[in-house]
Amino acid sequence: MVDVRGNLDRVRERIVRAAERAGRGPGDVLLVAVSKTVDLERIRAAVAAGVPALGENRVQEARDKIDAIGRPVPWHLVGSLQTNKARDAARLFDWVHSVDREELARELDRRAGALGRRVEGLVQVNLGDEPQKGGLPAADVKGLLDAVSGLAHLRIRGLMCIPPMTATADEARLWFRRLRALRDETGLEHLSMGMSGDFEAAIEEGATMVRVGTAVFGPRPARGEAP
Ligand SMILES: *Cc1c(COP(=O)(O)O)cnc(C)c1O
Repeated sequence: MVDVRGNLDRVRERIVRAAERAGRGPGDVLLVAVSKTVDLERIRAAVAAGVPALGENRVQEARDKIDAIGRPVPWHLVGSLQTNKARDAARLFDWVHSVDREELARELDRRAGALGRRVEGLVQVNLGDEPQKGGLPAADVKGLLDAVSGLAHLRIRGLMCIPPMTATADEARLWFRRLRALRDETGLEHLSMGMSGDFEAAIEEGATMVRVGTAVFGPRPARGEAP
């Protein structure tokens, strides 16, 4: 059995120390514990241990979990979103990290409005122009922000990236710096970047949200295997 509480304590401690090194307070960084493929028992253990936010990457999987667990903490969608799932996403999630096109932003706004909800959004940037990843090219970020800045029920709060795989956390810093520079140009507040292998580097480079799965919940089964 994975010691979720112990893992969570260690991750939080590492977040505090990385924030200190960057001259920032621990309250400046939100830990989003990514629970994709993780069973309800472990998610409940994380909630009991005081996890501040939970993240999922698939709407269908999240729906089953949120129906079972409810929303003791905010839920974040960190995976790409098809427009035809915007209604479910607007109902289930408090934050959507993967807004990458105007059509999706407008649909999320419309659906959230119809449900009487407000959704907080991040624009996902595909920094490495990797075709298999979601997100829009850095050059298109300003255009999207201009197009969606007036929406009433989807408020864009910052930028998110899943940078190209690097051998070391230090190499990931170059990507984190690029996202931060882009964020600084927009005047937005949030930067969602950093995962289990590199969240401390991301915090040192300015992350306000880190998305940490394995380091909290333990290793995930490979795709295709039963969880
Ligand atoms: C799975 C996932 C994470 C967490 O990855 P770990 O390496 O397990 O921490 C973060 N962000 C996104 C978008 C993910 O899909």
